[in-house]
Order: sequence, then structure tokens, then C-alpha cells
Amino acid sequence: MKSAMRPAKPPRRIPPKKPSNQKDPVGVYCRVRPLSPSDQECCIEVINETTVQLHPPDGCKANRNGEYKETQYSFKQVFGTLVTQKELFDVVSKPLVEDVIRGRNGLLFTYGVTGSGKTYTMTGSPGEGGLLPRCLSMIFNSIGKYQAKRYVFKSDEKNGMDVQNEVDALLERQKREAQPQVIPRTPLTRQRVDPEFADMINIQDHCKIEEVDEDSVYSVFVSYIEIYNNYIYDLLEEVPLDPIKPKPPQSKILREDQNHNMYIAGCTEVEVKSTEEAFDVFWKGQKRRRIANTQLNRESSRSHSVFIIKLAQAPLDADGDNVLQEREQITVSQLSLVDLAGSERTNRTKAEGNRLREAGNINQSLMTLRTCIEVLRENQLCGTNKMVPYRDSKLTHLFKNYFDGEGKVRMIVCVNPKADDHEESLQVMRFAEMTQEVEVARPADKPICGLTPGRRYRNQAFKEELTRRLEERGGPQNGESDDQSVTDLLIQSFPPLPSCELLDANDDQTLPRLIEILEKRRRIRQMMGDEFNKNVCSFRAMLQDVNGAVTAKENFVQGKMTEKDRTIVSQKSEMERMEKKIKTLEYKIDILEKTTTIYEEEKRTLQQDLESQHHKLQRQLSDKRRLEARIQGMVNENAMKWEKECERRVAAKQLEMQNKLWVKDEKLKQLKAIVTESKSDKPERPPRERDREPKIPKRSISPAPVPNIPPVNMRHRRSRSAGTERWVDHKPPSSMETDTVMQPHIPNSIKVAVPSEKALAKCDRYMLTHQQLASDGELETKLIKGDVYKTRSGGQSVQFTDIETLRQESPPSASRKRRSSPCNDPPQGETTDSDWTDVETRCSVAVEMRAGSNLGPGYQHHAIPKRRKP
Ligand code: ADP
Ligand code: MG
Repeated sequence: MKSAMRPAKPPRRIPPKKPSNQKDPVGVYCRVRPLSPSDQECCIEVINETTVQLHPPDGCKANRNGEYKETQYSFKQVFGTLVTQKELFDVVSKPLVEDVIRGRNGLLFTYGVTGSGKTYTMTGSPGEGGLLPRCLSMIFNSIGKYQAKRYVFKSDEKNGMDVQNEVDALLERQKREAQPQVIPRTPLTRQRVDPEFADMINIQDHCKIEEVDEDSVYSVFVSYIEIYNNYIYDLLEEVPLDPIKPKPPQSKILREDQNHNMYIAGCTEVEVKSTEEAFDVFWKGQKRRRIANTQLNRESSRSHSVFIIKLAQAPLDADGDNVLQEREQITVSQLSLVDLAGSERTNRTKAEGNRLREAGNINQSLMTLRTCIEVLRENQLCGTNKMVPYRDSKLTHLFKNYFDGEGKVRMIVCVNPKADDHEESLQVMRFAEMTQEVEVARPADKPICGLTPGRRYRNQAFKEELTRRLEERGGPQNGESDDQSVTDLLIQSFPPLPSCELLDANDDQTLPRLIEILEKRRRIRQMMGDEFNKNVCSFRAMLQDVNGAVTAKENFVQGKMTEKDRTIVSQKSEMERMEKKIKTLEYKIDILEKTTTIYEEEKRTLQQDLESQHHKLQRQLSDKRRLEARIQGMVNENAMKWEKECERRVAAKQLEMQNKLWVKDEKLKQLKAIVTESKSDKPERPPRERDREPKIPKRSISPAPVPNIPPVNMRHRRSRSAGTERWVDHKPPSSMETDTVMQPHIPNSIKVAVPSEKALAKCDRYMLTHQQLASDGELETKLIKGDVYKTRSGGQSVQFTDIETLRQESPPSASRKRRSSPCNDPPQGETTDSDWTDVETRCSVAVEMRAGSNLGPGYQHHAIPKRRKP
């Protein structure tokens, strides 16, 4: 028997579903494409099987730090320019295809800048089929004879598969073929293959996996999508083409199935039965992609294309005849082949406007991919548990499960050694090297059907055995043909009856001939009867044989059934136990979920609180800062103000002190003069006369403030002839007219409210009218007089020489109404002294303010410089 000759298979066990604790790093391979004829300089060198070296192009030998730098990068394997598509496939993709056939998932993507050979590697070129056609070819070579009939497997539209029996499948096929199509569809197998792709599928290098589970049936489904600008488009969707107003393609959304795997909702999955058919479908999608890119003016190098090969497998029933009609027994595995968009930065393609923004989004997907890889790596290296931002882009979201341990991940980094690509190649290399530090959990084995292995072959062997036995007993086939020939021969030799009509009484020929023929026919009939009996006997024997075989089979099946019944009973009790356990666990999960919800809510509230507190704090902080700034400003302002005030007060005080000192000096001098005068016995002149002579200091209690060092050049003093003196009569606007009897009358004067240099230049005398309230409440008018000098700098200065006081008094002292200088009355002199000082200070301030220059505390006379600032 055939099955007996096959090696006994190890008994199957149902492996645990999840998880596998073993981890594998992401397999990163590097492929260096040959330089194109237009490029001269090669910047990449393959050092050995695992290392490449990049060196900067001749033009820019120094990097940013100003140093010439060669960098080496290591990968799982490096393929030089001479590597063939087959060699690459054997190393990189073959293990992935083997995995898919064994029910595990795989993800393979090509990464690199535009023109680095990603599409060449993935799709290939005529005569040089890439990884995609080779993967398809290997799958069909391996499962070829175990393929299920079309429509036995049916997508459930939720990333799962349903199974139906062959009769239903046949009915469905007929139904579908009868349906009017949206687009008239030629059967795929009869479609003309694009000549561009025709050569790719003629893969000479026959490749297949030997160990395929022959107790299952298989079916291949393919999908082809494009991700552009973070939108997913189904390239196999049948949409009615409107040549006048083509509808823009509708994007698809991602969903999570019940096993938490991501899938594209509503994506077309085409069941294919051969490499050619599969490649036809790919070609159709490729064509649609090109049309869409042209119509919508897209940059094709900026889109990611994903070709998904889905393999559904279901075990045969116990008899090995039909597919087991149990949904849970179906295994679906898939291989995703991703040709990523060019990894270069946007400016390289000189995109503008919309395209730039779209390109930005595409770059965004690649950036998200990079970020995800970085976070995964960080989590693994540092033991952190940062959230991986898969959801930030459709590309990473779709392949999230692979990185979470749903399958093997491999990447081929394509590089072009030309000088222009050097900068970008460095980025690519860095990312690729980092990627291989990420480890992905090894996918767990899928549970395999618990039926005894070798069913298909046992069934086949049984049928063969039956045929053989029948053959041994003069088997129906040969025997039948022999019998057929004997019977045919007999029938052919059956002589026809001659004419029985007697023509005359003497006819002695007709009857004997008839007798002879009838005799012959009787003999043949006898022979036929014998042959028939013989056949009946052999047929009866055959029937008995068949009966025996059927009984044997029945017994065998009966035995099996009893065995199965026992297994079922034990499994039922096991199931009950498990169900109880499940209930308990569900109850626990329920509680845990509730607790989690409570905690999450609490967390949310706390986070909100924290946020609001944080905001409040921020607000307070900014308020505080504002206030501080304001206070600081005020403090500075005040400080400055007070500084100025202090300086002013110090100056005034100094002046005052100087004056006092001077007055005292003067008094001493006067005393001395009096002493000397009394000695010389000089007659005193009447006080009025004295008043008229302001130049004599001793007659004034408020003497002219003659400085020790005169600040003026005396030569510049104007000549003063009697009667021709000109006066500046400085009367502040606030001055009031009094009805004092002895009003000063200066005929030749310039009246000013504010002294000006111009007025002073024209005159040689100056008089200020100052009014104040005296201690008795009467208005007191002081006439402060001085000489005008020309200063060395060309300005004017006034030297005060005399003060006249005019005041009114009430009747009791009216007899003493006078116009006198306070110098006669020493106690009053004290008062006037201080008044004078006060007035002096005021005058000085008044003049000083006009002059805009401070001559310092040592000067009692004040200059008004010729050139003043306004
Ligand atoms: P990408 O998809 O990265 O933009 P392509 O695969 O389209 O780049 O490659 C650009 C060109 O370079 C194509 O004409 C392709 O045939 C050629 N090419 C790329 N890699 C190879 C290689 N390894 N051997 C020969 N030609 C290659
Ligand atoms: Mg490409």
C-alpha cells in the first residue's frame, strides 16, 4: 500500500495557541544595486557578507564636523551588485513562504530612496522576476495538487474564512458566472498577460516546499492596495469606469478583527489558482495604479504598495475525502509584500502645493514607521513600556500585529551607490541598522486538526487496493473488454436468416439452408448463454469481493467510530471542565474590567485635576512674573527720582551752607570795617543815600555774593555812565501791583517775565521783583538787584548786589511805614537773612533753570551761557 511506504508521521499534538516567549530580531538585509551608466562615482563598497562601507563623494569630503569619514554598517546579510534575484529570494523570502504554508504570517518590505531598486527587488523586470512572482510560484508549486475547488473557501469580510462543501461551491460558481457583471469580465485565465510581465512568471528556478500537510486543502487569495497620502486604496476593486467623468477612487478604512488583527475593511480578495492567474491580478492592480497616478497627478514614488498573499487551509474529514466543515479548523496565514515609498526628503522631488503636502504625509508614514521602530527598540533596550504610535499612520497601523508578534518581519534595504544619494543613503543605513535591534516575538504555531494524519493517502490507498483486487479476479476492466469482444464477435458471427419463401415444390435448397443456419444460430445462442452464465458468475464473485471489502471498511469505520465516540465522551467532559473554568475566568475578567474602569476614571479625573492645577499654577506664575516686573520698574523709577531729588537737595543745601558761611564772613568783615571806621571816625551817610549806592557791601544786610574767585572776566563788565544804565526788569507773571508809595521807577528798562540772554546782553543791570507773605500776613515785595557781566564763554552772568524790601504795615506801626533795608535792625536782619537766603536760593534756581547749567555750590552768581539747549 502506498501509505505504508510513506514514513510514519509523528503524532500530532495541539500546540498551545499563544504566546511564544522566544524573540527574533527583525531581519534586515541590504542590497546594493549596480551603478547606472550615467553615474561615475561609487560611494558604497561591500566589505564582506555582512558589512558595507559608505564613503563621502569626492566633492564633499568633509562632513558637517569638517572631517572625512567612512562609515560601516552591518546587516544580517549584504548582497552586492552581482546578486541574482533567485539568490536573494532563497535567503530572504523562502523562509517567509515556508512559514506561510505552515500557517504563520510574514511581512517583507523594501526600504530605500527612489531609484535604489525597491520595485526591482520586489517585482523584478522581464526575465528577472522579483520576490513577489517567486513567492507566488513557490506557494503554488508547493500546494498545487492539494488546492481546494474554487469557492470552497469564502472570505467572511471580517478578515476570516468560511468553508463550504464542494457541491455548494459548484453551485456558487454557477451562480456567479450567471450573474451580470458590473464590468464585462473575461475569465482571468484567458486574459492576455501584459508583455511587460509575461517573462517574469516564467520562472525556471522551480522552488517548492517538500513538507506540505497533505491532509489539508489550500486556497490562495490575493489583495493589492496602495497607501497614498495616508489613504488606503483598493487596487483590485471593480468600479465601473466612466471615461467622461472618472470617479476618484474611494479610500478604505482599517478595522480590527476578533483576534485583534488589523485588516482593510471591504478590501477585494481574489481567489487565484495559479501563479499566472495571481500575477494577472497583480498586473491588473498595477495598471489601475498607473492610471490613477496619471489622472490624479500623483508622484508614484511617494506611495506605498502592499500585495497581500493570503493562504487558507482546512483539514480533510476523517475519511480524507472532503473538507472538514468546521470554521474553527481553518487556518489563514498571510504574506504581506510592501514596496515602500522613497525614503528621501521632500525637497528632492521638487514637489509643490498639494503634492508637497501629500508627499509630506507620505514622509509622515515613513517617519511614523521610524518612530515606532525607535520606540519598540527603546522599550526593549530600556525595559520601558512607552506606547508605540502605530495609529499615527495607516501604514504602521496596518502592520501593528507583526511587530506585536503575529509574524516574522524582514526588510530589504536598497541602496544606490551613486554620489548624489550619499546623504540619503546614510539616513537609510542608520534607520536600517537601528531596525535590526528590534526584536519581534516568534509567531506561535497554529493549532492543527486533531484527526489522524495520512487520511488522504489512506483513502487513496483503499481505492487502489479495491481496484487491484478486482483486477486479480479477472478484473472488471480487462474482463469486461474481453467479454465485450467475445460477445461482439458472437453477435457479429450471428448469421442472418435467409429468405424462407418457397418458390416451387421442387425447391430443395431453401429448406436445408434454413435448417443449417438455424442450427448455427442455436449453437451461437448456446455459446452466448454460456458466456452470460460465466459473466454472471464472475460478476457475482466480484460483488461478493466488493461486499467483503465494504464490510471490512464498515468494520474499520465502526471501530474508528467507537474510538471516536470514546474520544468525544472524554473531550466532552474535558470541555465541561473547561467551560466551568472559562466561566470562573470570565467572572474574574468582569470584575477586573470593572476595577479597571473605575481606576481609569479615577485616573482621568486625577489627570484633569492635575492639568487644571498645572494651568492655575502657570497662570499664577505668569501673574507673579508680571507683578515682579512692574514692581521692579517702579522701584527703579523711584530710585532714580529720589536720586535726582537728593542730588538737588544736596546742591541746594550746599549752596545754602556756602551762603551762610559767606554771610558770616561778611559780617565779620563788616564788624572789622566798623571797628576800623569807628577808629577813623568817618561820618555816616543817611541810609537812603546808602540804598542808592548798592555797590557798598557793608550797607546791605544781604550783601552782594561776591565770590572769592570771580567767575567773570571783569574786563567784560559794561561801562556804566550815570543815567544811561539799562535795566532788565524781571517781574514774574505772578507779581501783583501794590500801592506802596515808593515804587521803583526805572525809565530805561526792558521788562521781562522770564529773563533771557538776549535781554541781559542789552543791559548792564538786573532787577528781580519777588513777592512773599511776611510773618504778619502782609505782602512783602523784594527788589533784588545785580550787575550783568559778560562771561568768558560769551554768555551773561548776574552778580547780585542789593535787595530792597517794600512792605505795608497796619496803623499801630503805620508811623513806621518805610522803605528800608533790613540792615539797620539786627533782629530783623536775622529774619531777612534767612529770607534772603531763601530768595537767593529761589533766584538761583530760577536762573539756573533758565540757564540749564549748574555752576556748582561755590558760586553765588549764575551764568546764562550764550548757547543753550532748549
Ligand atoms: P525604486 O523602486 O527604488 O524607486 P526601481 O526598482 O524602480 O527603484 O529601480 C530604478 C531603476 O534601476 C530601474 O530601471 C531598475 O531596473 C534599475 N535597477 C534597480 N536595481 C537594480 C539591480 N539590482 N540590478 C539591475 N537594475 C536595477
Ligand atoms: Mg519603486
